[in-house]
Amino acid sequence: MKIVKLVPRVICGEGAFDNLSEVLESHFDLSSGYVVYIIDSVHQRTGLKDRIKSNEADMVIEADVSQHEPKTTEVDAIRDKILLVKGNKLPAVVVGIGGGSTLDMAKAVSVILTNPGSSAEYQGWDLPKNSAVPKVGVPTLSGTGSEASRTAVLTGPEKKMGINSDQSIFNVILLDPILLKTVERSQEFYTGMDCFVHCVESLSGSFINEMGKSFASAAKKRALDFFSKDKNYESLMTASYLGGCSIAMSEVGICHALSYGLSLVLNYRHGLAICLAFNQLGDYYGEDVKIFKQIMEANNIKLPTGITSQVAPDMMDRMVEMALRMEKPLTNALGDNWKEILTRDKIVELYRKM
Ligand code: NAD
Ligand code: ZN
Repeated sequence: MKIVKLVPRVICGEGAFDNLSEVLESHFDLSSGYVVYIIDSVHQRTGLKDRIKSNEADMVIEADVSQHEPKTTEVDAIRDKILLVKGNKLPAVVVGIGGGSTLDMAKAVSVILTNPGSSAEYQGWDLPKNSAVPKVGVPTLSGTGSEASRTAVLTGPEKKMGINSDQSIFNVILLDPILLKTVERSQEFYTGMDCFVHCVESLSGSFINEMGKSFASAAKKRALDFFSKDKNYESLMTASYLGGCSIAMSEVGICHALSYGLSLVLNYRHGLAICLAFNQLGDYYGEDVKIFKQIMEANNIKLPTGITSQVAPDMMDRMVEMALRMEKPLTNALGDNWKEILTRDKIVELYRKM
């Protein structure tokens, strides 16, 4: 039985972002240092960056996540820059503002500010030894559940894998649905489907308990309603959070394992990689794949096709290796004998269909 750590403080509702300064002042000892804001550079354009009320001593760092997902080298560079500029003095708080990529960067930076070496050394389960710098998360794109989870997913030199640790969880999150309204429609769909797939995979896996089921069922319904009935952004934001909680109580499954190969080797972004993989998983998640295809059509989303037609055998091998590394998700989905069911040949067959 595992002890699950959840985010201890949540502030939600339209306009929650306006409370950021007050939350920082009331919940953290700012006299001991300064605040580091890590904000998605897209928010220069949306105007959100201008709404940060930073002091002179604070650092506002823009993260450009437009071309690729966060890398261990980028996280290391941000940590090094902070410590260089501030003469090794630690910040009082790290605030992450953006989609899953930026939230994960902020979480990872907070961990390696107090744990020596590269962030790549902490990709895995429960590896950081020292307490992280406190952190606050402000999602501006909903679906990954990073705001709720104990993982900070990074792409390292060898693997895409999270820093899965109690040190990687936010101390406070601010959920303001108004911040979602500038997201481009296809991105909204891909990341929203990430939430849907988190729920499908946790509900159909063997690791889940009753509490996880409640989180996942509620999140799944909200995510589906958003894309098939009513574009209620507060509901989508809630779905993402609840989906993240459901994963904290269970695990993901085959779709996530395959998506990591697509992201690591072919550089597909997580949400799109999830859609590309889930679209081919009818044999494993039958009814939910049918629903997925229906809402994809209703939302006028067209996935790229033939994406592996030019992939050379050595690249395909790397993709298969990456998928096979995801032992926990695959055990959750298929049981202890998953290697007999999801063979190398089967994985190649699935990738070749995409
Ligand atoms: P993202 O953060 O990579 O952002 C995708 C695009 O949306 C970017 O171009 C970004 O600039 C833009 N964007 C973000 N907010 C916006 C806004 N309000 N308006 C306009 N544009 C905006 O996308 P994501 O799908 O949220 O995150 C994907 C990452 O999250 C991947 O690295 C994935 O591995 C990770 N992930 C983490 C967890 C976790 O629990 N930590 C779970 C699932 C996925
Ligand atoms: Zn995911």
